[in-house]
Amino acid sequence: MAYDQGNVFARILRGEIPCRKVHEDAHVLAFHDIQPQAPVHVLVIPRGAYASWDDFHEKASDAEQAALMRAVGTVARITGVAATGYRVISNCGSDGNQEVQHLHLHVLGGRPMGRMVARTE
Ligand code: AMP
Repeated sequence: MAYDQGNVFARILRGEIPCRKVHEDAHVLAFHDIQPQAPVHVLVIPRGAYASWDDFHEKASDAEQAALMRAVGTVARITGVAATGYRVISNCGSDGNQEVQHLHLHVLGGRPMGRMVARTE
């Protein structure tokens, strides 16, 4: 899938729209989700232009991939959920119900998160 430079997270990375930053480094930015689904709901994104997990796994450098994984743990400690537990989700593509076409990991916690996948039947 071609990367859309106009997506909302690309605009946040360019500073065109604000975010509530939690953490950043050379490869990663983490900020609070605008519509939190748990007391802690932080999005962790690579600075690089990767549309999805599929795109990222193919094209990102080892340093970028390592930084994204490490940032999840850093965010969990910063927000306090490392002590109580948390869930990490990345929605990929159509069946994954991905809405924003820039790779992001959701870090959710601050309450019991319930079943991993909602029953649909
Ligand atoms: P997904 O369905 O996995 O693509 O998740 C996209 C997430 O981005 C949703 O949880 C939205 O609430 C969140 N979101 C959309 N726009 C913004 C924004 N400007 N700042 C922070 N989070 C946002």
